[in-house]
Amino acid sequence: MRKIIDGHTGLMALLGSPVAHSISPMMHNMAFEELGLNNIYVCFDVKEQELETAVAGLKAAGICGFNVTMPDKNKMTELVDELSPAARLIGAVNTVVNREGYLIGHNTDGVGYMRSVQDAGYDAIGQEMTLMGAGGAATAICVQAALDGVKKLNLFARSTSRFHERTVKLVENIRKTTKCQITLYDQQDTGALRTCLAESAILVNATSVGMAPKIDASIIPDVSMFRPELIVSDIIYNPKETKLLRQAREAGCRTFNGMYMLLYQGEEAFRLWTGQDMPVAVIKEKLF
Ligand code: NAP
Repeated sequence: MRKIIDGHTGLMALLGSPVAHSISPMMHNMAFEELGLNNIYVCFDVKEQELETAVAGLKAAGICGFNVTMPDKNKMTELVDELSPAARLIGAVNTVVNREGYLIGHNTDGVGYMRSVQDAGYDAIGQEMTLMGAGGAATAICVQAALDGVKKLNLFARSTSRFHERTVKLVENIRKTTKCQITLYDQQDTGALRTCLAESAILVNATSVGMAPKIDASIIPDVSMFRPELIVSDIIYNPKETKLLRQAREAGCRTFNGMYMLLYQGEEAFRLWTGQDMPVAVIKEKLF
């Protein structure tokens, strides 16, 4: 535990709702401690309708920077002075840097996921990937995967999604600006899903389906769609093994969860706030 909070202590925070379960405070506070930085990271439970007021207050109080999680990531794009290119393309912000009252919105989720693929020992570059979801995290992963050189992306989302229009535009933008062959499918199209999973190297669940407390749900309706060569990942980390990952493991697939995506999106945010590298090896050993 840190010893002293004084008049120079820098404040970082997580905004969202719920946030009490979050591992981010432990991760960042351990890193501050390890590097001897006089900063502290805390959680604020902030619902979307309270976000503007909370951000104004934290800005006035001189917060160094903050993370934003569900349900605030989309709304946050409207509350910053500048968006990074990735955050603009994604349409969601998960990290804000406060430069003397000028707020810059970033999105580190996509970088976090792609680093977690590498960390698990796999190479997604030049491969085909199937991605479930159309929310902030799904969009971030799509953008980063396309930028990094994933060859083909099959994106499955509900046609009723509140993000539908944004997703259609995202697909157009990715087609225009990268070499990635991306196709948007209706999540109900199980025939297309079966075909895509037969051809993909990696499946990623980027929806909240299966997240605690609703742990009995899985985004894949039929386990016969799994084949042992498929790598199945879930960006959910609570529970550590979602129903999807359990089904995939039982079908002989290699799997990994969202823990290291969380670590690496945090590593990137840490660098944006402090200009220093997070001591990842220590954090892994102590926390993950
Ligand atoms: P979000 O913007 O609210 O998006 C949620 C997505 O889940 C939407 O596409 C939504 O579809 C979909 N969804 C929810 N219930 C569904 C259902 N019953 N069937 C099909 N789709 C459903 O949230 P987010 O920020 O992208 O986060 C999504 C998940 O990723 C959460 O569990 C979050 O904890 C996790 N996450 C993990 C990390 C990490 O570092 N590991 C980082 C970010 C997020 P509709 O649009 O149709 O409602």
